[in-house]
Amino acid sequence: MAANPSKIYLSPPHMSGKELSYIHDAFDTNWIAPLGPHVDAFERELAAYAGVRDAAALSSGTAAIHLALRLLNVKAGDTVFCSTLTFVASANPIVYMGATPVFIDSEPQTWNMSPQALAHALQDAESKGRLPKAVIVVNLYGQSARMDEINALCEPLGIPVIEDAAESLGSTYKGKASGTLGHFGVYSFNGNKIITTSGGGMLVSNDAEALKQARFFATQARDQAPHYQHSETGYNYRLSNVLAGIGRAQLEVLDERVAARRAVFRRYYEELSHVPGLQFMPELEATRSNRWLTALTIDEQETGTGPSDWIEALAEQNIEARPVWKPLHLQPLFEAVTFYPHSSGGESVSEQLFRTGICLPSGSQMTEEEQERIIDCIKQCLHQKKRLTV
Ligand SMILES: *Cc1c(COP(=O)(O)O)cnc(C)c1O
Repeated sequence: MAANPSKIYLSPPHMSGKELSYIHDAFDTNWIAPLGPHVDAFERELAAYAGVRDAAALSSGTAAIHLALRLLNVKAGDTVFCSTLTFVASANPIVYMGATPVFIDSEPQTWNMSPQALAHALQDAESKGRLPKAVIVVNLYGQSARMDEINALCEPLGIPVIEDAAESLGSTYKGKASGTLGHFGVYSFNGNKIITTSGGGMLVSNDAEALKQARFFATQARDQAPHYQHSETGYNYRLSNVLAGIGRAQLEVLDERVAARRAVFRRYYEELSHVPGLQFMPELEATRSNRWLTALTIDEQETGTGPSDWIEALAEQNIEARPVWKPLHLQPLFEAVTFYPHSSGGESVSEQLFRTGICLPSGSQMTEEEQERIIDCIKQCLHQKKRLTV
């Protein structure tokens, strides 16, 4: 082993090389400023890829969630339900709107929103006459939530679903693109996502009228007038033409990136799934995950190790691994917020996943040699602990 092996990141950007030609084109035509032909084309191309009527290119996935809530007329005092096991960006826009989040537990098969917990939360809300204005469902690490069950609960009550597909671009659910199963879908092109524009996002929907409104709000809500006139509060949320150019080149290789990440998952699985006490994140029947991050749980009793042991051992080898998201209902930020567990009694599913879960480096550019380095380090960690505890 080299004294200082090169760092392996969790999920670094992976450029195809073609991005530069799109950037050059933007420079040659001086379409640098917000909007321009790359933005229009990126929207068209992404909508076509996802099989959805329209897409609005935005400055971030967070901005897309914020606009979706705005378009659904979420107001101060309203409640919005949200998956608890996720990145804080899923829920921050609820707070931007002055609304109150209510967090819903995960279920074991998808690690995503539990329809059982959601049903319970909806019953409670209905009995209090305080139904949520929207439900934000997250597709964790590329795996789709149980969208049919969730839609079946929300539709009869007229509650729109926002699918936070920031991590699941390129995944499918029963043959449909992940992110197109709710009223709105949200993608992110942040630097760590499966494709990136360095920073950016997309709001998608079959409701073309709503997306027209989204573009209006995203450009400071400027009324039709020769002067600057505004009747509503808007935002500066559009994606720049230069970054949209990067996105176009990245979208061309999205399917390759999905294949590469799935191959990374497969290699981890082949090398480690036989170890008693290790449980890889499942893939729900009739869904195909992009396997954005390979995630698994570690039974401390059976393996003598926990996520923090692995993370430390890997860090010593200059390898970045991370715990599973800390559930939002456990965050100091959301201390007083209501939470609905998957089942009553005992530790909730999301808390258990947080305590035992780990995300391994999953970059689409990672070489097999690099991945061997990671797997060797994990095996060593497992052996050492066993010796110590036996
Ligand atoms: C990355 C991410 C976001 C936010 O996207 P940005 O483009 O970084 O604003 C939202 N939700 C989830 C689940 C994410 O992973």
